[in-house]
Amino acid sequence: MVKTIENRQHHEECGVFGIFNHPDAANIVFHALNALQHRGQEGAGIIASDGSNLRQRKNEGLVRDVFKHADFSILKGPHAIGHVRYSTSGHGGIMNVQPLLFHSQTGSLGLCHNGNIVNALELKAHLEQQGSIFQTTSDTEIIAHLIKRQRGTLLERLKESLLYLEGAFAFLLLTEDELYIALDKHGLRPLSLGQMPSNAWVVASETCAFEAIGATFVRDVHPGEVIRLNLQGLVSDKYAEDCHQQMCMMEYVYFARPDSLIEGISVYHARKACGRRLAVESPAEADMVIGVPDSGMSAAVGYSEAAQIPLELGMIKNKSAGRTFIEPSQDLREEAVGLKISAIRSVVQGKRVVLIDDSIVRGTTIMQLIKLLKQAGATAIHVRIASPEIRFPCFYGVDFSTYDELISAHKTSREVKDIIQADSLAFLSVKGMVDAVGRKPNQHCLACFNGRYPIHLYQPIDEANLEIK
Ligand code: SF4
Repeated sequence: MVKTIENRQHHEECGVFGIFNHPDAANIVFHALNALQHRGQEGAGIIASDGSNLRQRKNEGLVRDVFKHADFSILKGPHAIGHVRYSTSGHGGIMNVQPLLFHSQTGSLGLCHNGNIVNALELKAHLEQQGSIFQTTSDTEIIAHLIKRQRGTLLERLKESLLYLEGAFAFLLLTEDELYIALDKHGLRPLSLGQMPSNAWVVASETCAFEAIGATFVRDVHPGEVIRLNLQGLVSDKYAEDCHQQMCMMEYVYFARPDSLIEGISVYHARKACGRRLAVESPAEADMVIGVPDSGMSAAVGYSEAAQIPLELGMIKNKSAGRTFIEPSQDLREEAVGLKISAIRSVVQGKRVVLIDDSIVRGTTIMQLIKLLKQAGATAIHVRIASPEIRFPCFYGVDFSTYDELISAHKTSREVKDIIQADSLAFLSVKGMVDAVGRKPNQHCLACFNGRYPIHLYQPIDEANLEIK
């Protein structure tokens, strides 16, 4: 009997992509969203502009399903934005699938966002008290209401509105003839600019989207930067002065695709370096190294090289199990277990295994994998995790927002080892991880590892200031 298991553990909220001035804009967005699918699998959408009108198509499901029979001639025009959604806030449902489209007397606005606005509830309550009527339960809509209350050009109104938001966000806004890009002042989420051979501008949550469409990476969007693209060119501005980048470390550890570059660093090489460092910090007596597919593979290569223990394919993804993706509730998550990874008996039987994964959140998945390997005849399983223990929740758009969801929140590593039934368990140190990635500790958010949150979780709103706008 083949026993299998789904290995996705935790998700990041959403991926965004935008393109300005390309004759096949919506089709390009479709291909880019496919490359960003790992960032959100609940819903996908595209809004395109032909210079006079904005049109949209969106639905729940994977990109390829939402646009299965799509006639991109409906999404006419040279400018477009797209989004893949994983809901960590605002719940599911088609109304919250992005981009969102708003019409007013002064024009239309397409809007999508990646991240989490930590003062969203408070802002929303204030806006509702002042007469705003929300169409969705998504945080993203807040920016549209804030923009409506400001005066001046759209760039000025956007900059003013962004000052109210606290949290992690990467916004794309599309009007009939302009594309706006904004990143929060801590730069928690990756966002990169590129160009097509035709010189059309593109922007994406990850550079792997550029590879998929033949675009060239130009630069990363800076923390606190607001960019306006129109037929006159690109204008870069800032909405805040106190900007300091603290990129989410989990982007390097888990979320981003290995073929992406974040702030000039290859995600694959960062993970491999974490694996190498882990081998030095926590060696193990074993016959082989196995990486959890796909999340532990890059670190397993590094561990194997540094420890000089052969890397083997002891587990494979079961492609015939069909499409599954994790729904954002624990019940559905547990139902999904048992579908996607198989142990290869002929490889692991009678062997001592170092099992590498990138992180442990709830512990459910690694426990199932250990069981699979033992049932397939492995004699010892030494679990090595290429990141530190996740002890603290994330409030910036990742779906472990409570302590109860984290096995390491209240348990020692020894207790976790006993629960998951490993023969030994070790995590990479925080210093080891930061050194391996190759940037300074203060350039990262490390809050889920060390509890030091870069953004205050509660920011009282200046009511007087909000009311005049
Ligand atoms: S708390 Fe962790 S997951 Fe959340 S933004 Fe910071 S590093 Fe990323």
